Amino acid sequence: MRIYDFEQGDGKNKKLLGGKGAGLCEMTRIGLPVPPGFVITTEVCLEYYRGGEKLPKDLMDEVRQHVTTIENKVGKGFGDPKNPLLVSVRSGAALSMPGMMDTILNLGLNSETAAGLAEQTRDERFSYDCYRRFIQLFSKIAMQADGEKFDEKFEQYKERYKANYDTELTPAALKEITKEFKQLCKEETGKDFPNEPYKQLEMAIEAVFRSWMGKRAVDYRKFNKITPDMASGTAVNVQTMVFGNRGTDSATGVAFTRDPGTGENIFYGEYLTNAQGEDVVAGIRTPKPIIEMRKELPQSYEELCRVREILEKHYKEIQDFEFTIERGKLYLLQTRNGKMNALATIKTSVDMYNDGIIAKNEALLRIRPEQIEQLLHKTIDPKYAAKPVASGLAASPGAASGKVVFDADTAAELGEREEKVILVREETKPEDIHGFFAAQGVLTSRGGKTSHAAVVARGMGKPCVSGCEQIKIDSHLKLFSIGEQSVKEGDIITVDGSTGSVYLGSVPTIEPELPKELTQVLQWADERRKLGVRANADTPEDAKKAREFGAEGIGLCRTERMFNAVDRLPIVQRMILAEDDEEKNAALATLLPIQRKDFIEIFKAMNGLPVTVRLLDPPLHEFLPSMEGLLREIADMKMKNMDTREKENILRKVKGLAEVNPMMGHRGIRLGITNPEIYEMQTRAIIEAVAELIKQGYDVKPEIMIPQVSLASELNAVRQKLENVTREVMEEKGVRVKYSFGTMTEVVRSCLTADKIAGFAEFFSFGTNDLTQGTFSFSREDAENKFLPRYLAEGILMNNPFETLDKDGVGRLMRIAIEDGRKVRPDLKVGICGEHGGDPESVRFCSMIGLDYVSCSVYRVPIARLAAAQEAAKTVDL
Ligand code: ADP
Ligand code: MG
Ligand code: MG
Repeated sequence: MRIYDFEQGDGKNKKLLGGKGAGLCEMTRIGLPVPPGFVITTEVCLEYYRGGEKLPKDLMDEVRQHVTTIENKVGKGFGDPKNPLLVSVRSGAALSMPGMMDTILNLGLNSETAAGLAEQTRDERFSYDCYRRFIQLFSKIAMQADGEKFDEKFEQYKERYKANYDTELTPAALKEITKEFKQLCKEETGKDFPNEPYKQLEMAIEAVFRSWMGKRAVDYRKFNKITPDMASGTAVNVQTMVFGNRGTDSATGVAFTRDPGTGENIFYGEYLTNAQGEDVVAGIRTPKPIIEMRKELPQSYEELCRVREILEKHYKEIQDFEFTIERGKLYLLQTRNGKMNALATIKTSVDMYNDGIIAKNEALLRIRPEQIEQLLHKTIDPKYAAKPVASGLAASPGAASGKVVFDADTAAELGEREEKVILVREETKPEDIHGFFAAQGVLTSRGGKTSHAAVVARGMGKPCVSGCEQIKIDSHLKLFSIGEQSVKEGDIITVDGSTGSVYLGSVPTIEPELPKELTQVLQWADERRKLGVRANADTPEDAKKAREFGAEGIGLCRTERMFNAVDRLPIVQRMILAEDDEEKNAALATLLPIQRKDFIEIFKAMNGLPVTVRLLDPPLHEFLPSMEGLLREIADMKMKNMDTREKENILRKVKGLAEVNPMMGHRGIRLGITNPEIYEMQTRAIIEAVAELIKQGYDVKPEIMIPQVSLASELNAVRQKLENVTREVMEEKGVRVKYSFGTMTEVVRSCLTADKIAGFAEFFSFGTNDLTQGTFSFSREDAENKFLPRYLAEGILMNNPFETLDKDGVGRLMRIAIEDGRKVRPDLKVGICGEHGGDPESVRFCSMIGLDYVSCSVYRVPIARLAAAQEAAKTVDL
């Protein structure tokens, strides 16, 4: 069937009937007052394109039959001058798509029917107002005339007749305008304005189909990743006109069944009296809040309140609906699920459960996990109308103000003095880490949402705006410019990582208040999910925050972040630069108690919960100054006749450590093989920390994780050495320490040989960042800066694989590893600690393939809790 009357259509089938059409059918079916009409399906739209942009041959015959049905229902005739039927022609795809076609109202009017309508309604003003609106819209939409020309002409008339509002124009003036408009149409398009109603209808239907492939619509679908299986083709709705512009007992408006901003259970909406649909949206007149209708049109208001209740009970979702009142009679013209912010979505879900409208599972499934993040961070005070001076990517949510600094050392220095700073860099590197700790927020001019700056900032829960290309940074002069404006070091700026905006000066922020409904929802989520949720945390502060957010352990504690702290780096450098074992051991001995203290603090904070400590991962050169920097320094020193031997020594070492591809270089377990003392020191620090805490009555569950493992034999070699250390410490301390050894599973080979590796590992934790790089042979930063955007724009990749787990490739490797690993060791614990652990879609996948837990940055813990519950809620009916 190509065409469905509203009574016939399946209100659930949005794909076939479009969202608007399905809504109209459904509302008709449940007995709400919907003006009669029919839907031409989205399949006809596809047929139109298959046929070379032609309407199917006999379509108009079918249309005529359905128009006749309407004629019989409403007792009017399409094109009948005595009693004309007018219709609207409305587009509507499966998903709402702004940028598609505008609606054509009042179709069916021509000189004869307009005159007839005037006579029949005894209202010339009304009739010619409808007619001029129709010519205007139809010319623009169906005949591609320039709409502004009509607006200009209309304004001229208003001036000429001294009319402030449309409603003040006399019937005669309006009549004159319709003539002028038809003339204008001819001038603009070279074609006569069609008089014959069925010709008008045919042209309007075609225009709707054409709009599906209009540039705005195509761009919108691309940008919003709307694939053909989500929405393919638009439907056309042809519907009897009802008139909100028939006097003061007529009106048109839009309403939400609850407040979409706060979620409060109050009726929310706006209306205009004596107006037609587009007036509300166009903002020509300011609409009134719905509550005023209670006085102005009390009976209609009461009816609307009843409709509000019926719609919500029926759809079990907040509805956003459109209505028109024609001389006191209410009609519904559209309904759809209301778009709400995070707070409102959560609040209404809990309220609707409490009211018995929906089940817990439905409440859980309605909330998009990523929305939660909005509620956890500081935000710009909405009362303060600040204007951003630049904008970049919303890379890590939250807002913060501080003094601009251009390097990590200065940030750290000022941070020591408790000054608030914003670190501004072209892009950040691992050695900037101490600057992150000190900064309130980060702004970079390059890099995407998964750039180093973004990832680290998210991990710390600090605001970050990345890829802000409008700012030009000169780190030597210590300033950046935005167009003409320049901002110096020490000037105050505000960054809002939730929106990507940058402001000059300090903008007041407000602390989020966790709504009690969120706590409630997360508690429901915990009841349902089977997947554990841990946090990636490197400091005791993060560990505490993680617990607050409901983390059940730390899944990744990166020790190199401890090495990078300002007070440690010199010692680490001494260790790396050591000429002999004695020097090296001395440096390590200095580091040992510092590391032990780090671990003590973190273990304490996580009392009773597991903590996975990853032994040193990055290549050693990352802890040394850069080659260019050294060369410059040496040149400077030489000019001043200074002794450069020490610097040259460092330079030699840096050159020696330099690698062509550090990502695949001398790092992780490979360092464990070549520099066993480092891992031995770290292991000693861990076990000593545990031993001490056990004596103090703490319950510590350490898990020692070795990164970059690709061979069972290398793991075995390292593990044996480390077990000698653990044994030694336990003997020294006279305490038995329970711990486990495992691997960060991030190398393709380790997935493929998981059965062998599991022989030496009690747990696997997927490091999906590196695993994704290895699987695609994409180096992340390069990929994101150079070619990934193109892949995404052209739809070659649907998602950035560094944000959302590549299920087919990386996911397959994970499945293999889990299956083979558990064959050898049935109780093998499996988790994930890459960025993906906090991405809702990836979390659902992890739950599906049987991981024990995900570990993600602290602020994503609540997101992961909900996403995990959603996967469980889908499979069990609770
Ligand atoms: P959009 O997709 O932009 O919301 P609609 O098809 O809903 O477009 O039309 C816009 C407005 O036109 C509606 O809100 C309604 O006020 C008005 N409208 C559409 N069809 C009719 C109709 N049959 N009778 C009266 N007004 C209508
Ligand atoms: Mg609408
Ligand atoms: Mg890694």
